[in-house]
Amino acid sequence: MSSDWVHCNKCMSRPSANVRLALASCGHLVCRPCTNGSTDSCPVCLMKCAFVALVHPLPPPIVIYFQDPLSVAQRLAQIYQFQEDNRIRLFESFFVKANDHLTQLDNRIEALKIERQCLEQEIRQASNNH
Ligand SMILES: [Zn+2]
Ligand SMILES: [Zn+2]
Repeated sequence: MSSDWVHCNKCMSRPSANVRLALASCGHLVCRPCTNGSTDSCPVCLMKCAFVALVHPLPPPIVIYFQDPLSVAQRLAQIYQFQEDNRIRLFESFFVKANDHLTQLDNRIEALKIERQCLEQEIRQASNNH
């Protein structure tokens, strides 16, 4: 976790062994002394808030806010690529099936053309014999 930016939004203290921070549901980071014992209002914006202490392991809903954005972006790119690769495989299988079907239709058309030529020849021969 890159934490060069983490500080109490009220007194600007940085986290240390003596300074424990909490994340308020309004989005402000505050140290314990700045909360003044309050557990339901933010000392920065005075909104009614719930607090989550910043201790390891961070709860899943807030852990992403403390991850390196570049790593998260790379992970998102991997997810995108994985889904896109699967989308392409599916599309390719549709394409192959459609192409097979077209080839079958072309072959059928060729067979019908030959059949027509034969029938036309039979008709010509039949009318020449009369
Ligand atoms: Zn503070
Ligand atoms: Zn606040």
